[in-house]
Amino acid sequence: MSEPILEMTDVSKRYRTAGGFGRGRKGFLAVDGVSLHVERGEALGLVGESGSGKSTLARMANGLVVPTSGTVRTDGQDIARLGRRGLRRLRRNVAMVFQDPLASLNPRQTVRQTLENVFRAHGETTSTAELVALLESVGLGADYLGRYPHEASGGQLQRVAVARALALKPDLIIADEPTSALDVSVRAQILNLLADLQRDQGISFLHVSHDLAVIRLYSDRVAVMQRGRIVETGPSDEIFRSPQHPCTRALVEATPEAELPA
Ligand code: ADP
Ligand code: MG
Repeated sequence: MSEPILEMTDVSKRYRTAGGFGRGRKGFLAVDGVSLHVERGEALGLVGESGSGKSTLARMANGLVVPTSGTVRTDGQDIARLGRRGLRRLRRNVAMVFQDPLASLNPRQTVRQTLENVFRAHGETTSTAELVALLESVGLGADYLGRYPHEASGGQLQRVAVARALALKPDLIIADEPTSALDVSVRAQILNLLADLQRDQGISFLHVSHDLAVIRLYSDRVAVMQRGRIVETGPSDEIFRSPQHPCTRALVEATPEAELPA
């Protein structure tokens, strides 16, 4: 058995500033002793109501947020012990896709510049042919290279953000609410794109959403978060068919009938 691509053990994050529940002089415990792992090639869905700590957990998985306690391993390596070169490798191997593609892309850079900068940041050069192939892998044509963010739709921009995440051939993509800011009509397209990448390129995913319907469509396994803790995990179908925890039941009941997979 190979190492999980991501393994978090008893990870907590306490913010100094006050947050929602549990605030006090000691700060605010946004993530409280969470353990989870993502196997190679697997898509793990992390679902929970807003404010339950999903984004904090996702950011700890790639070093954007430093845990107060606990360990995070990617590919078997403790990220707290990585030196400069190790951190660079971590940034290559674990890519992020955020909720709002417009906010996550520089408005003054063309798609070409955005993509070229990813390569440059890692001391690599790239060719137009390589950039075109990258765009094609997310379903966009070569004409997008010259476009600025305001010249594309939300769905197209999210494809650009996915292309940027793919540029350095990561092993794991962490997608934090990647379809929440998009029109319902393009959500399924983006989810299908992510599913294709998982299947065809063997990329692992940590897929964060407050929407269990989205998670179910797309994830092999689900972890349900509530108030900084994981309260239930299991195969997606099982979680959906017979939710055990009240929080999971509430999420299932909140799923509109029309969005339930057939
Ligand atoms: P989710 O993604 O599930 O909505 P977050 O991880 O964004 O949850 O936030 C969890 C809790 O931590 C929220 O109550 C939020 O207000 C608080 N929080 C998030 N980031 C910070 C921060 N930088 N400083 C203080 N509190 C924060
Ligand atoms: Mg969030």
